[in-house]
Amino acid sequence: MTTLETAQGYAAGMGGLPFDLPASVRIQEVGPRDGFQLEPAVIGTADKINIIDALAATGIPALQLTSFVRPDAVPQLSDAADVMAGCTKVPGVEYSVLVPNLKGAQRAMECDADVWELMLSSTDAHSIANANRPTEAAFELLRPAIELGLANDVRLVGAMATSLGCPFEGRTGFDRVAWVTGLYADAGVGHVTLADTAGLADPAYVYDMCRRLADAFPQTTITLHLHNTRGLGMANVLAGLAAGVTHYDSSIGGLGGCPYAPGATGNIATEELVHLLSLLGVDTGVDLDALIRIARGPVRAAVGHPLESSFGKADPSWVLHDPPAQQVLPQPAGT
Ligand code: ZN
Repeated sequence: MTTLETAQGYAAGMGGLPFDLPASVRIQEVGPRDGFQLEPAVIGTADKINIIDALAATGIPALQLTSFVRPDAVPQLSDAADVMAGCTKVPGVEYSVLVPNLKGAQRAMECDADVWELMLSSTDAHSIANANRPTEAAFELLRPAIELGLANDVRLVGAMATSLGCPFEGRTGFDRVAWVTGLYADAGVGHVTLADTAGLADPAYVYDMCRRLADAFPQTTITLHLHNTRGLGMANVLAGLAAGVTHYDSSIGGLGGCPYAPGATGNIATEELVHLLSLLGVDTGVDLDALIRIARGPVRAAVGHPLESSFGKADPSWVLHDPPAQQVLPQPAGT
């Protein structure tokens, strides 16, 4: 018996949620980039390639493989070109890489990535901490990379770190996020990623930001990149769905962390996202059982520590268990 369908039927019988859900959602798996880059122990290139190839077979439509940052800045990803060359590209799966500047774009050009995600912080304080210059100057560094990508028909996505809260400046206002989205749009980048880099967002904030941004930039596609640092990851996904967002980033096993809260949880887990969307009847095309096997097997082995995802331990909610055997109680004495 498919108990997922029973669960969905139960939810539908209750009248559903007080907003329309999209029929489908597109998930980008970012564990091999955003997850691995914060792992303290070096993960072997062959292990990375095995995990990437396994993930590409789950039905996931997009995978972020690595980052073309300076190898000395993120040693864990210094094998970017080898990872790109070693994985077996699955037709229909989009392979993306993170690109911080023209040099990174030139390295990415040699690797035949489908998508370049451009690195940029939405707030000046975070941009100065990360890229040594405020947002506008950092964007100017991206401009030649954008031109190279557009000239070569690479699909470009403009990341906006700290657009849902900054660990230095606090809550990022809509006007600021709209200004950065406008910089991208004017340069020919019509897809942005709103990132809750430090896990500071909440559902009302996510809903308001996404709704207003979608209204102001109807031609721009919005991806939500959410973190679960304070346990609000899935609640924020629901707020994104209510606002009509259909693109989400997530990480296998919940890999990743928060540079401002050492040891804290990072990205929302892909298994938890697919599980939630399955219960809501929103199609992702992703095989949840396969994801859970990959998380519990090769990912757990590669990182060498327990995973943050609930599905490191629990099964999907529609998996039923045999009740415990009936206990025979002792008869009261003397009766
Ligand atoms: Zn992240």
